[in-house]
Amino acid sequence: MRKGIAVIFCFMLICFLIPNCFVRKHSTENKIEAVDKIKLLLTETSEVIEISLEDYLKGVLVGEMPATYEIEALKAQAVVARTYTLHKLQYAPGSHENADMCDNVNHCQAYKSKQYALDAWDDAEEKEKWDKIEKAVNDTKGEVITYQGELINAFFHAHSGGQTEDAAYIWGQEKIPYLKSVAGNESYLFEDSKTFSKEELKKIIKEKYADYNEELDNIAILDHTISERAYHVRIGNLTLLGTDVRTLLGLRSTKFEIVMEEDKITLKTTGYGHGVGMSQEGANNMALSGSNYQEIICHYYTGVEISTYNH
Ligand SMILES: [Zn+2]
Repeated sequence: MRKGIAVIFCFMLICFLIPNCFVRKHSTENKIEAVDKIKLLLTETSEVIEISLEDYLKGVLVGEMPATYEIEALKAQAVVARTYTLHKLQYAPGSHENADMCDNVNHCQAYKSKQYALDAWDDAEEKEKWDKIEKAVNDTKGEVITYQGELINAFFHAHSGGQTEDAAYIWGQEKIPYLKSVAGNESYLFEDSKTFSKEELKKIIKEKYADYNEELDNIAILDHTISERAYHVRIGNLTLLGTDVRTLLGLRSTKFEIVMEEDKITLKTTGYGHGVGMSQEGANNMALSGSNYQEIICHYYTGVEISTYNH
């Protein structure tokens, strides 16, 4: 009995002594260029505004994560968004002619102004929500995620459907060591489905793939990725990637199954988004279970550190 307690105590001590997440303050060896202001393209009006990085991040939080989420999830999102922005500026500059970033969720990151947020929220809760957004950004000021001293490409998504994806399956590039498949940690499944008549589906596929032979009877998922997403899908004479099928049919995720019926086909999906990096819903659930933002970040990005750059 005593031995058992001693073993448990030793295990807890080891867990305490070996943190899986390191926060390094004022790390100067990181090759991270300080950014005070960014030029932001507002796509609706084509206007380019100059805004401080930290104010920009508050707008990204409004656009990318519900303010009702837990503060630790919002802090994780703030660090992720800061890292994503600086990575883009450092490694992929020039993707806009006169701006550093745009407010298009499908191109850079969503951004909503403070005024937009205040107008959208109920008067009774707007102060509390905005204070939370500000706190998430201010409390993590200058903090970024690094892997071996360099900024990571901090992908994130809404809901992994239970398991995040290894980036290599999505973008076909070399394995990125910090974007591995890990538990999604969401508290529920995000399920959705889309049904197409066979004729409708054939038409959609033919429009995109001119050499498609317009057969559907052999439609099947040929293999799955490490997180059980559709990797290759056979449709008639075509073999498509699950990601191509998702884009073509506007599915929530590549984690889907195909249900054939007499004259229609249903694709049932789980999760929302590409599944790589941090799951926002999982982050919120981890925060509800007591995890802080560093633990959330170090769960979704394997082997990373949280560093503070000199800004
Ligand atoms: Zn953009």
